[in-house]
Amino acid sequence: MTYDTINILHLERFRDKIQLLETRLDKGTLIIELRFHKQEIICPVCHNMHIKFHSYQYKKIIHSISTHQKSIIRFHHRKYQCKQCHKIFYEHNPISDIYENISLYTKTSILNYLKDYNHTFTSAAIHYYVSIQTVINIFDRYVEAKRRKLPIVINIDEVFISRTHAYKYACVLFDFKGRKMIDLLPTRHKHYLIKYFSRIPKSELDQVEVVVMDMWTSYKEVVHLCMPKAKIAVDSFHLIRTLNEIIKRIRIDTMNKYKQHKSAPVHDDMYYYMLKKFHYFFLKNYEDIYDGKIHIRKMQAYWHKSDILHYLLSINDDLKEAYMLKEWYREFNLTAAYDTCDDELNKLVYQFRNHKLAGLRSFGKTLINWKDEIKNSFLVYDKRRISNGPIESVNNKIKTVIKTSNGIQSFNRLRNKIMYSINKDVPIKNK
Ligand SMILES: [Zn+2]
Repeated sequence: MTYDTINILHLERFRDKIQLLETRLDKGTLIIELRFHKQEIICPVCHNMHIKFHSYQYKKIIHSISTHQKSIIRFHHRKYQCKQCHKIFYEHNPISDIYENISLYTKTSILNYLKDYNHTFTSAAIHYYVSIQTVINIFDRYVEAKRRKLPIVINIDEVFISRTHAYKYACVLFDFKGRKMIDLLPTRHKHYLIKYFSRIPKSELDQVEVVVMDMWTSYKEVVHLCMPKAKIAVDSFHLIRTLNEIIKRIRIDTMNKYKQHKSAPVHDDMYYYMLKKFHYFFLKNYEDIYDGKIHIRKMQAYWHKSDILHYLLSINDDLKEAYMLKEWYREFNLTAAYDTCDDELNKLVYQFRNHKLAGLRSFGKTLINWKDEIKNSFLVYDKRRISNGPIESVNNKIKTVIKTSNGIQSFNRLRNKIMYSINKDVPIKNK
């Protein structure tokens, strides 16, 4: 056998040991006949050196070197017999673990393959010509993602896991600066979280400076209780989304007023049409809206976005006021700073709190309830304003793992798969 063949068969680790290496095809399967040189060996029972060759056992070991073809090593495994105590034993087999019929190379390949969050136990089984259960056994045996040490800035968020697990929502802990998952917990329930954090050493909890969260009161209580030295910050995107939902409601209510008047003049219909067609003007950042001529079919005209906005805001004073207040808040959110935001935040609270529309008043109440946490959301680490933004992409990956996992039943296995394929640096154990 040539140097190249040994490499192609991924047997380079055994190069010096090989006595016989032959390949053949048998019904589409590549059979690799393999025998090693005889080695000095002693009896494992009585440690006697007088031993004799007994026989070969032909052991079939799955050795998946290609995804196009099944390949099997037919290992000529020598048996010896001790001349003194008559014990029969095998020579050492470096290709596979004892009692297993899958090569160590194949196992490593499967574990590497599973690092991709798109890859599933099922697709691994197909790729490597083994059963799904074999893949699961390998994964369970070698992968156990440990909780990472708590960082200075923690993101906390929930992700929907499924209706089939004990809890619908899992809780994600994420390292804002280090961009790694700290842990995945089976639930976001308050009592579970308190128990979880109470097992973590106090010195570790004490060095957490900020916890970023959406406005979930349980998280707030847990942090107050378990990490009293940490500041809490609300995720500003979450807050803006809440405000946008309120504005959307106000727009729809306004729009529907003009729909009801069947006998109204024609231009009332136009109000309805415009508020429906250009709904996104109330949600999107104005600067992100298309800056060319926008076609308005019903008007048979092309307008610039500034004309459209002007039209939309001229329809109804309440809607206009709501829009302007939202824009003020949006501007504040984009430009304010931790040290100087108090005055403006207070003014905003006053405006919302005393607004005549109930939706905006309720947002004012939210601002009051979370005022300190909103201020803390302007904190900056590594020149980046803190937010739960980084956790969003992780949540999408988690959702992919869940969607493609066909409902991995064990939460622990699901957690390991998620942590393993998102963090990439989870060590392989027992190796
Ligand atoms: Zn012996």
